[in-house]
Amino acid sequence: MSSLNSLKDLLIDELKDLYSAETQLVKALPKMAKAAANEGLKEGFQEHLEQTKGHVDRLDRSLKILGAAAKGKTCQAMKGLVDEGSEAIDTDAPDAIRDANLIGAAQRVEHYEIAAYGTARAFAETIGQTEVASLLQETLDEEGETNKRLTELAEKINRDAYTAGEDETE
Ligand code: FE
Ligand code: FE
Repeated sequence: MSSLNSLKDLLIDELKDLYSAETQLVKALPKMAKAAANEGLKEGFQEHLEQTKGHVDRLDRSLKILGAAAKGKTCQAMKGLVDEGSEAIDTDAPDAIRDANLIGAAQRVEHYEIAAYGTARAFAETIGQTEVASLLQETLDEEGETNKRLTELAEKINRDAYTAGEDETE
């Protein structure tokens, strides 16, 4: 049984969890990109993969500043979210319907990250770790932009999914 005896311990714990989450995403995003039919969505996943590598790097730097190593935790929540993404990839469906499903899975991931980075940044601010706080804020901003971009892509893709599907004949 591990123990947490300070807010700094808790921050380190959160950052290790996020490190696990982001490294899982570095493996999952190329599969999401490959499965996406819409070009904008495909590119969006590819670009977010590059950003995500940067997120791993910022977590590495943050943990170093705090004197801790980026290991020892598995983010179970991200494991579940990535599994749901795999389900969306593997489900037989017209392209636009699969794309709409992929966006749903991806936005769940971004919202999880936004919550986790917001929490961690607040902890870093509270204990006066301003450099860590600003590294976390940079990533938080990119996650927020990605989520917004996914919402924009969904506007057209959802309409395509409606046209491609059998909704109207039901
Ligand atoms: Fe990220
Ligand atoms: Fe992300």
